[in-house]
Amino acid sequence: MKYYILFGPPGAGKGTHSGAISEKYNLKHISTGELLRAEIAAGTELGQKAKSLIAAGSLVPDEVVEGMIENVFNTVKDYDGFLLDGFPRTLAQAEALDSILAKREECVTAVVSIMIPDELIYKRIANRAAIEGRADDADQSVIKHRIDTYHSQTEPLIAYYKEQGKYFEVEVTAPTIEENRERVLALMETIE
Ligand code: AMP
Repeated sequence: MKYYILFGPPGAGKGTHSGAISEKYNLKHISTGELLRAEIAAGTELGQKAKSLIAAGSLVPDEVVEGMIENVFNTVKDYDGFLLDGFPRTLAQAEALDSILAKREECVTAVVSIMIPDELIYKRIANRAAIEGRADDADQSVIKHRIDTYHSQTEPLIAYYKEQGKYFEVEVTAPTIEENRERVLALMETIE
């Protein structure tokens, strides 16, 4: 099985490009953000605990998302692999992912990193707020906190995966989604 990580700051377009990648490579797309929003919508205990953290733009505890990921790995069949979107977001999560995969005698295949500068993040999130109506996209201070959290907690993963030779990056700064999608798919083609 292939285990790809779709990596990038909030608003880079991980959700937008995941469909094309997962379809082309027959991957199961797992977005921890989407799974958490589904828990909130269903009013589960987990969702209720996550709700205020997500609204504030803070990360939910590592164990929560690690459990969700392992659960999907254990229940999904009929795919050639997985496309992890929004996970891992901390070094602890990256290490947990390694041990979850080691138990399955598997490992991370590659990190597909889609990058945009911080100024573009605000524009992209403002566009998405108008379309998707996510509460955490509506407030500038929450967006700033998510960007700060990305830089402090998530960006260190770049070095972690570079050291393993698994890090592949592309800039998705083109004006249209189609052009950016082409760039991402072209990058995927270069990965064995
Ligand atoms: P996303 O849809 O990926 O932007 O995620 C929305 C929110 O869900 C994030 O701002 C976090 O509060 C939470 N979240 C999603 N994935 C994770 C993760 N891997 N670790 C911790 N919190 C997460």
